[in-house]
Amino acid sequence: MAFELLKDRRSQVVRSQRNEVASVDCNKASVAGSVSQRACTFCGSRVVLYPIADALHLVHGPVGCAAYTWDIRGALSSGPELHRISCSTDLREKDVVFGGERQLETSLRQLISKYSPKAAFVYGTCVIGVIGDDVAAVCRRVEQDVGIPVIPVLAEGFCGTKRDGYNAATRALLTLIGRGDTSSIGKYSVNLMGDFNVAGESWIIKKYFEKVGIDVVSVLTGDGRVDDISRAHGAKLNVVQCAGSMTPLAQGMRERYGIPYIRVSFFGVEDTSDALYRTAKFFGSPTILSSTQALVTEELSRVLPELRSIRCKLQGKRAGLYVGGAFKAFSLVRALRQLGVSVVVAGTQTGNQEEYAELQAVCDENTIIVDDTNPLELAAFLVEKDVDVFIGGVKERPVAYKLGIGFCDHNHERKVALAGYAGAVAFAREIHATATSPIWSLMPRRSRPERARIGKATP
Ligand code: SF4
Repeated sequence: MAFELLKDRRSQVVRSQRNEVASVDCNKASVAGSVSQRACTFCGSRVVLYPIADALHLVHGPVGCAAYTWDIRGALSSGPELHRISCSTDLREKDVVFGGERQLETSLRQLISKYSPKAAFVYGTCVIGVIGDDVAAVCRRVEQDVGIPVIPVLAEGFCGTKRDGYNAATRALLTLIGRGDTSSIGKYSVNLMGDFNVAGESWIIKKYFEKVGIDVVSVLTGDGRVDDISRAHGAKLNVVQCAGSMTPLAQGMRERYGIPYIRVSFFGVEDTSDALYRTAKFFGSPTILSSTQALVTEELSRVLPELRSIRCKLQGKRAGLYVGGAFKAFSLVRALRQLGVSVVVAGTQTGNQEEYAELQAVCDENTIIVDDTNPLELAAFLVEKDVDVFIGGVKERPVAYKLGIGFCDHNHERKVALAGYAGAVAFAREIHATATSPIWSLMPRRSRPERARIGKATP
């Protein structure tokens, strides 16, 4: 089967060069008909806010939009689990014709009375954007009566990209931050931003900070609590892990409260150590710095022997990756390189120009760099580059398995923590198990490649 990129997609695919950075057309609506892998604006807002476990999350729209439930981001909670209940106003034809505000207000009041949440987020979906319900007015009215924050999240699916959904979530969070008492917060304190406690990852990172003497005031938003987020403006530093979703919030807090931020990653031993050292250096405390050195040394001595042994078995393997944000892509390229695996295809859903420039810089020459791709393109790139393992999320998994390629889920659905030092080992084990599985040698593409060729993709 011959494959050719759609004409309108060509500017969104480049091949990295040694001394040159190519411009990647990005941060724009998906090309109609290209069957993008990217989620909608509403989903962008929901994945950021949803892990706040003691808040009510009400989706105002037809019930189908509420399919984006807890299960698409397995954000664990150490306490309340209100975030796992999927609530929808379930609008029907009648509501579309006559308006859904009454239905929204009734649902909100009933749910708040039943579950006693600490706050409520109300998400406006595509239909709401079309029929024009005044979600903000309903939220104001209910908030006055019930005495908890009732926050509209206006992120109709059609109104932009997933990144615009992150911005809508930022606006919602900024209405919550600043309401709490900060008097008990000390001078060595941070907010951990952009970690969603998938498989308990926030707990791993929090433990590192606590061990070296740094308080975590709030996690935005993994295992999140409304009261913690309300006092987040008392922290002295914002540590931003998922830069795509949280940089706008970090910038907003810098402008409003003067809190500086650093962008870090806790994926891979190199990036985890760097994140801990940069946080420690910010505070300028010799005690914190020496505790951090001790922690890093201890953790490295625990994990490096196994990582070295896995590296010997993976040396020379080739990987493709397609992830939500570019910062995770940078980390994965470095973590895979440390395992002896080279990345030959790298793409993101929400990268911007500067991030794609950086991605090209960290990748080897002739790596395919792609923005907002689709299954057909991905399949062609993976075959052309003959990758051994593909790293992505639930929507990418079938692409890999149909081609007979190993797959590693590095997205929201996984059940194994991949952050921090222990996470780096879990990641290495998973890559090793899937990339070297003997099952792939039985696939037609490998045993009879001429019968399963897709053809070279030419941007
Ligand atoms: S908001 Fe719109 S695009 Fe998103 S799930 Fe609902 S209908 Fe689909």
